[in-house]
Amino acid sequence: MSRRFEGETLLVATHNAGKLEEMRELFAPLGVTIVGAAEKGLAEPEETETTFVGNARIKARAAVAATGLPALADDSGIEVDGLDGAPGVYTADWAETPNGRDFVMAMEKTNRLLNERGASEPRTARFVSTLVLAWPDGHDEVFEGHVSGQLVWPMRGTLGHGYDPMFQPDGETRTFAEMSFAEKNAMSHRARSFEKLIQGCFG
Ligand code: IMP
Repeated sequence: MSRRFEGETLLVATHNAGKLEEMRELFAPLGVTIVGAAEKGLAEPEETETTFVGNARIKARAAVAATGLPALADDSGIEVDGLDGAPGVYTADWAETPNGRDFVMAMEKTNRLLNERGASEPRTARFVSTLVLAWPDGHDEVFEGHVSGQLVWPMRGTLGHGYDPMFQPDGETRTFAEMSFAEKNAMSHRARSFEKLIQGCFG
């Protein structure tokens, strides 16, 4: 049994305005008020762990320590089987350039590495989303969502973000970047981890 969240205010340990907005919508019907890390003036801790749960826990614990409030943090990325699970927790890092993130470059790199390794088709991969809800007494609950699929090349579609133009979920003929926001959100790794969080701690 997961511990229930009984408070009225939940601190979300992200500086990403899009994620915050998504959470506000999700939690509004549950009567939970969402406060973002930036509103509390929190710094972004360094993500020094090698697992999604490790990095999500760093973010959640840092926010709890700074505020004394329960805090929710997430970490996500894509694991490519033909690259032994890379980029994984380094998904955003692969897109870093001196001028910001460039995911076309990151997807080209992924495709090039798979070619160099002679990876067999289909080039299987999965998106992972891990959530950690941490309380001030040291307890936390972890929820993980996955969506499996294959990487296609050339990339297709203009919607979504990150690796979406290269990722075609199992059972679909379109990539995430060819689906509407609602279609993707009905099957995404993030939708699945959130569903588990709501059932486990807010049900
Ligand atoms: P973080 O969870 O904010 O650290 O982001 C990890 C990275 O994973 C993001 O920058 C995206 O590149 C990638 N990623 C996570 N979820 C998705 C998704 O739904 N579509 C495409 N890329 C994603």
